[in-house]
Amino acid sequence: MSAPAPIAIIGGGPCGLTFARLLSRAGINYVVFERDDSPEPQDHHSGGTLDLHTTTGIAALDAAGLRAEFENFARYEAAVFTVQDAQGGNRYRADAEGDEEQRPEIDRVQLRKILLDSVPAERVKWGKTLESISRGEGGGKGAKRWVLKFKDGSEESGFRMVVGCDGASSAVRPLITPAKPQYSGKTYIEGRISPSNPQYVAAQDLVGPGNSAAMGAGRALLLQQMSDRSYRAYIGIEESDTSLTRPGGILDFATDIETSRTALLERYYADWAPHLRAFIEDAEAPFRVWPLYTLDVEAFAPEAQWTRAPGVTLLGDAAHVTLPNGEGVNLAMLDALKLFEALTAELGGDDGDDDDAVERAIVAYEADMRTRAQAHIEDGIQMCGMMFQADGAEKMIAFFKSFEDAAKAQAS
Ligand SMILES: Cc1cc2nc3c(=O)[nH]c(=O)nc-3n(C[C@H](O)[C@H](O)[C@H](O)COP(=O)(O)OP(=O)(O)OC[C@H]3O[C@@H](n4cnc5c(N)ncnc54)[C@H](O)[C@@H]3O)c2cc1C
Repeated sequence: MSAPAPIAIIGGGPCGLTFARLLSRAGINYVVFERDDSPEPQDHHSGGTLDLHTTTGIAALDAAGLRAEFENFARYEAAVFTVQDAQGGNRYRADAEGDEEQRPEIDRVQLRKILLDSVPAERVKWGKTLESISRGEGGGKGAKRWVLKFKDGSEESGFRMVVGCDGASSAVRPLITPAKPQYSGKTYIEGRISPSNPQYVAAQDLVGPGNSAAMGAGRALLLQQMSDRSYRAYIGIEESDTSLTRPGGILDFATDIETSRTALLERYYADWAPHLRAFIEDAEAPFRVWPLYTLDVEAFAPEAQWTRAPGVTLLGDAAHVTLPNGEGVNLAMLDALKLFEALTAELGGDDGDDDDAVERAIVAYEADMRTRAQAHIEDGIQMCGMMFQADGAEKMIAFFKSFEDAAKAQAS
């Protein structure tokens, strides 16, 4: 019998590499095609630090046999979150005491390295940006196989399964659903506060080892500590005109930081408390702009159109990108685990070229994933929306307190 056709994983982010690692351990043949040119951290990697949760991201790492590697980097002390309003009122610090679920932080680049180090280097093809997918011949016994075309002009063929792990702008998604992510009207501008920054001590006092959010109507200022003890600042604005952050716009940080900073402060943050404005006044480059996109929750309703392209499915942001709510990477890694479990249950350990088994696994995975995705998208829109409301701090404090009260009630 010839070797089973490999699985193509498009995208080597958290979900693509988690899925790759799980397949590796099960001895299933696969290749990862990644857009980045090399394993070195690239500028566009979003989110400085990520909190992984016991029942999702950490459960996936457990199944992947990577818990010990994770614990080398996990920052349990970072599970503190300070909230305040735009004037510095309603200040409250929530911690993880009494929570059933743990939420240690890890830098995104550390997580990526753990996952990359856990798969054979030759399984990841760098500099491979997928452009299109088509169905070709050549599977034997009349089976058709997938052909992948890449931006560099190259082509790879003979895949029985294509797993789209290629994030928010997925090139695989159009095979499955006509849904397209829409701009939410919210954008974060990311800057840094290093230990030599005049605001560093203030950041330590306010945020400590964790995260903080200051919220006002149409604005949200987030600070988070990284493993090297520096801070990332996410300066949020509600702005429908995305051209303002592009070349020539008044918030074109890539071209002129100081003019953009002045516009940001004067146009959006003029009425904020001086101690909060100071983080924007002193934030350091590199600055990055993150316009926030979300899929529509209706795309996941039972009656919504999802096409079955045999052997093709989506994981993580490719499947269900939404506004940051602290769950994105966790659900992405859980998707990888769920698809792996469905696949191995159907293949029954022989890794043969059983296209029907692959199809049954995908159908089972997607039924479960679409339900989770619906809840995730609704939550992302609500949680991120709350961050930009005038009374967002009060609402978030009430939210934290409801958890604390529930934990106390359970303990008594
Ligand atoms: C500003 C910001 C902050 C965030 N903070 C958090 C947070 O604190 N906690 C959290 O849980 N989530 C956070 N998120 C969301 C989180 O980043 C995503 O949910 C998570 O990264 C999804 O993982 P993924 O593997 O599905 O996709 P991605 O992380 O986007 O990875 C996709 C991979 O595919 C590659 N790729 C893309 N296109 C192609 C192509 N055509 N061909 C080949 N390869 C391709 C990319 O280079 C990348 O390596 C944040 C998002 C943003 C924008």
